[in-house]
Amino acid sequence: MSHELRTPLNAVIGFSELLKMKGPGDLNEKQERYIDNITISGRHLLDLINNILDLTKIEAGKMDLAIQNVNIGGIINEAIILLGEKLTKQKIVIKKEFDSQLDKIDIDPLRFKQVVFNLLSNAVKFSKEEGGIILIITKKEGEWARISISDTGIGIKENDIGRLFTKFQQVDSGTTRKYGGTGLGLAISKQLIELHGGKILVESKFGEGATFTILLPLRQKMMRTT
Ligand code: ADP
Repeated sequence: MSHELRTPLNAVIGFSELLKMKGPGDLNEKQERYIDNITISGRHLLDLINNILDLTKIEAGKMDLAIQNVNIGGIINEAIILLGEKLTKQKIVIKKEFDSQLDKIDIDPLRFKQVVFNLLSNAVKFSKEEGGIILIITKKEGEWARISISDTGIGIKENDIGRLFTKFQQVDSGTTRKYGGTGLGLAISKQLIELHGGKILVESKFGEGATFTILLPLRQKMMRTT
């Protein structure tokens, strides 16, 4: 199923990128714009498909974690790199306060990166027009790691906080629509963290920003080596 959905879409995205590079021939302005639309819509659809497939897998109890003992600071840095030029485009500065006491912890590095990337993407996406700061703090608290991501963006109304982690929920803060998205990122993130025996918490002041906090046990009892 996953293959059948992804393969044709990857062809659509791949060939549209190839056309954009003008290898097969020159393009006029309108053609270039239309090709950009194909690429952007294709990528959006691929994101949606990947998210739906992930959620289906988790809900069917088929998501196996590949637990490794790794340094989370390194993974957070990799997730920041994935944000790419969005940071400069949206005038966002990232600040980090990593706890040197927090050494390696047991996590699935790919899944953890997916969650951090999701939270960071939201922090960037829901930033204010004038830009802002994202503060990432890691802290060792007994047998737990606390990772918090705070932004200075549009924030979330108190009444909406309860619905954030429900799938397909996009909170309508009057302006949400223009930010795009699928409303699946937080639902998946919550489930992935809970699969690790952890928790995600959120605090926000509407209009001033939001803080998402991940709590993860330092050690997993069952170490799967996949
Ligand atoms: P998506 O980002 O695709 O809409 P998510 O599940 O990641 O879906 O987020 C659900 C909703 O939660 C978003 O549509 C947005 O309204 C709200 N939200 C998430 N992160 C933030 C944030 N950092 N600041 C403000 N609102 C947020």
